[in-house]
Amino acid sequence: MVLTLMLTMLLSGGAAFAAQLPNFPYHSIDVLPIDRAKFLAGQKIDFEVELKDLGTIKSVEVLINYNPAEKFFGKAPVVKLAAGVSSYRIDQVSFAKPGPVNVIVNVLTEQGAASREVNYTVVADKAQKLAKNVILFVGDGMSLQARQMARILSKGLTEGKYHDLLEMEKMSNLALVTTSGMDSLVTDSANSASAYATGSKSAVNAMGIYPNSTGDPLDDPKVENIIELAKRSRGMATGIVSTANITDATPAAMVAHTRRRSEQNFIAASMLDPEHRPDVILGGGSQHFLPKSVPGSKRSDDRNLVEEFKSQGYTFAGNKTELNQIQNSAKVLGLFQLDNMNVYIDREVTKNPAVLGSFTDQPTLMDMTKQAINVLSKNQNGFFLMVEGACIDKQLHTVDWERATYDTIEMDKAIGIAKEFAKKNNDTLIIVVADHAHSASITGTYHELDGKTGRQAVRTYAEAGFPTFEDKNKDGFPDNPAPAVTLAIQYANHPEYYEDYKFNPEPIAPAIKSGSKTIANPKKDANGDLNSSKLPDTETQEVHTADDVPLTADGPGAEYFRGIMDNTEVFFGMVRALGLDAVK
Ligand SMILES: [Zn+2]
Repeated sequence: MVLTLMLTMLLSGGAAFAAQLPNFPYHSIDVLPIDRAKFLAGQKIDFEVELKDLGTIKSVEVLINYNPAEKFFGKAPVVKLAAGVSSYRIDQVSFAKPGPVNVIVNVLTEQGAASREVNYTVVADKAQKLAKNVILFVGDGMSLQARQMARILSKGLTEGKYHDLLEMEKMSNLALVTTSGMDSLVTDSANSASAYATGSKSAVNAMGIYPNSTGDPLDDPKVENIIELAKRSRGMATGIVSTANITDATPAAMVAHTRRRSEQNFIAASMLDPEHRPDVILGGGSQHFLPKSVPGSKRSDDRNLVEEFKSQGYTFAGNKTELNQIQNSAKVLGLFQLDNMNVYIDREVTKNPAVLGSFTDQPTLMDMTKQAINVLSKNQNGFFLMVEGACIDKQLHTVDWERATYDTIEMDKAIGIAKEFAKKNNDTLIIVVADHAHSASITGTYHELDGKTGRQAVRTYAEAGFPTFEDKNKDGFPDNPAPAVTLAIQYANHPEYYEDYKFNPEPIAPAIKSGSKTIANPKKDANGDLNSSKLPDTETQEVHTADDVPLTADGPGAEYFRGIMDNTEVFFGMVRALGLDAVK
């Protein structure tokens, strides 16, 4: 079967070969969820078996723990037999008891018999001391090096010793998290956030689902996520906060189920579904909530989701002033930009009208985190809140480490606010993690004090000394992102671009398309060194890496996080800390 497939791909040309070869192993019997999946007891899933290229099928038998699946789940399957791909599906079922689960599929075809076996694990662990609340901070793309850049700029060091650590570093537990998805070594943000939200692996661009082979991005087998579980099993309050479009991959994966993260209009509307409607929704991206008649809207219909949320009892905030005025609301929708929110340097330091446009009153991530906790903590059943520092990633993609680092510091200060809240009752688990890494690393320092420029002025080893960032007003951010001696940051996987190692007063793309090729953007650092591309011409940005990422945690249940962990374990650490009982 594998050989036939390989031959078909070779004969059908390079494009198909490139598109299909790196995918997960080809099985003529695909079982979704996949082999070695793990679930919380009672967590709802859609179960699907796909039969591919097996010829005429006479019968399908699915055994779960040696019982017919329909008997085990107490639900009849929907079976669709077709020439190419046949499907056997039972939706919205769960495994009630912890322990191993064995799945055997036996297929009888006109050519003979075929079978496949997969195994699952079901858990129902509860922490000894339970948490009432969980706050999950996701620094998008916040690698170990990104944390360290923030520590250097925010806390500083003399004679090799740091003056202080970041809030996210002063936590009791530390683990390294692996980030790969089920289809590829290197993840995107949908896939990895989905692992945190559901405890299941997914594929690039997907969230809350296991990808089946149909082209429909909305029919894939679903896995119940943390917001759905928190609401269904305990009536908890839930919230999502991000500096990106609130329908972007990371916040969306806490809520929605789709094969394609780009379905942002669908995702925005999906946030109204009662089973996963968050009580607090704060971020950018009003373009996906406003009807198409409004200038800047990206919707293709006349739905006004802001009005629909209001009619569900939500207070709406369109800027920082309105957000800070909210006092007695149990539900808040805040959208502070049409698209992604501006980054901290542009919002709070340079405040350049050419960059901000009419969005001159955007809240900080600290403002949003504080208000989210205020609103959610009124629920006696506790809350789950996800806060994303989204633009750490977006700025590393454009090789702009200064903007990424100020946003890392911004997220660290938001973590400080969460820690202050947690201190009061010691019943809140705080987790800080990235979803994947970037390739930026610290080579040394950079200065032109002796007249050298470009790479000749990159200072290594003893020449490097220390950078001269200062924080005289003690707000945690360096007073000047461009001191005399700055960091020399270099990237391992970038398109062709010019680099002068100096801060850019305005954000600017490193590379642009020229015909079918990617070339260095002549408007960025035109007098700098030309760094030749390390990537195919299809890439215009620096890309994610497969590096493990650090996770730090504090509070009840934090003891779960230690050593090297699969990214799906973040979900199991959260439900264990809360002691959620999903069998209901
Ligand atoms: Zn990214």
